[in-house]
Amino acid sequence: MAKLNDYEKYVGTDVLYELELYASKLSGVVIQNINSTAVGGGVAEILTRMIPMLQELGVNACWDVIKGGEKFFEITKKMHNALHGKNVIFTEDEIDLFLETNEMNANQMDLKSDIMVIHDPQPCALIRKKGNTNQKWIWRCHIDFSNPDPFTWKFLKEYIEQYDASIFSAPSFARELKIPQVLISPSIDPLSDKNKELPQETIDSVLEKFNIDKKRPIITQISRFDYLKDPVGVVKVFQRVRKYIDCQLVLAGGGATDDPEGAQVLSEVEEVVANDPDIFLLLLPPSSDIEINALQRASTVILQKSLKEGFGLTVAEALWKSKPVIAGAVGGIPLQIAHKYSGLLTHTIDGTAFALKQLLQNPSYARMLGENGHKNIRKNFLITRHIRDYLLLFLSLLNKKEDIIYL
Ligand code: UDP
Repeated sequence: MAKLNDYEKYVGTDVLYELELYASKLSGVVIQNINSTAVGGGVAEILTRMIPMLQELGVNACWDVIKGGEKFFEITKKMHNALHGKNVIFTEDEIDLFLETNEMNANQMDLKSDIMVIHDPQPCALIRKKGNTNQKWIWRCHIDFSNPDPFTWKFLKEYIEQYDASIFSAPSFARELKIPQVLISPSIDPLSDKNKELPQETIDSVLEKFNIDKKRPIITQISRFDYLKDPVGVVKVFQRVRKYIDCQLVLAGGGATDDPEGAQVLSEVEEVVANDPDIFLLLLPPSSDIEINALQRASTVILQKSLKEGFGLTVAEALWKSKPVIAGAVGGIPLQIAHKYSGLLTHTIDGTAFALKQLLQNPSYARMLGENGHKNIRKNFLITRHIRDYLLLFLSLLNKKEDIIYL
């Protein structure tokens, strides 16, 4: 595990000093994170790096995962899709099972920490256990909230408004809420296996392992197989571009334990891919960070053709590697990409195909986008900034009666 000082070369000493100062003011405070999966997806990715780093700073932070049956995760995935704008109807039984599973988890878990950070809707009803204590409960939303289904949001809002504060990833997700809303965007860890620098031999050996030709352009999208990541759209983009330019497509992704839709999406992708030898559909097991890192580094262009996106860590990961990225102009992605400056933002299959052709034909423009993208990630989306935001929020909630907190 990386040590705090290892981050100095990316962020400088002042930032690290600041983190240590804030952390020292939280001594004796226990911070408990709860989400719905230990592996797969951005939330687990962030917590895997953030908890050890908080601990390294001397903060007493921990992470628990709620349990649920297949049906529960089907309901929460439906909820997830509804919050992303899909029209869905929940039966009374579904609502009951959602609440019962939250209740069951609440009874089995120790929920007494000073600060409770509950991630996303799946465990949001744990708040019913709050009671009359000095605890501070924060609801951290990682979802693209630009256009949530009104019924689903009305139902969840009842619980969310019992929290002391909420966190959203982008200004465009702000809601009308009775509780304070804080904007904290996610981050990547430059020293994780997913993002650290790799020797060329490692990159080459990963390409060899998957039989990918390193002499021809490689277009890559790394994502869970989820409709909202539009993997079928990515294949169509590739098929259009390949008529003009000889290239290969890598679609790599695994599943998440709280996402039951993956298999269905994958089978739809397999159908459009047919037996195309230039499309590499890679099903990666959870511990594939080095492989993903290598695939991103080996790529000529990275796509993230999302239709909705809370933030899109994969965009940050690719930009960190100075790769030119073409991504859907949705959710948290425009925070990371300024169109035509640090990447290209697109809305359609045709638009994405046009952008991809342009970048494949103009490597110096592509390089410039990647380099600008890297600078933006370094400045705004590294784990140190994320932890700083969190520590400040914790301090402000614990000292709520004071206008000024003397550090
Ligand atoms: N990821 C992974 N293996 C996969 C697919 C994705 O490790 O097979 C990682 C990816 O590198 C990124 C995270 O999972 O770190 C996905 O986060 P993102 O915000 O892009 O999307 P989410 O899955 O949370 O919607």
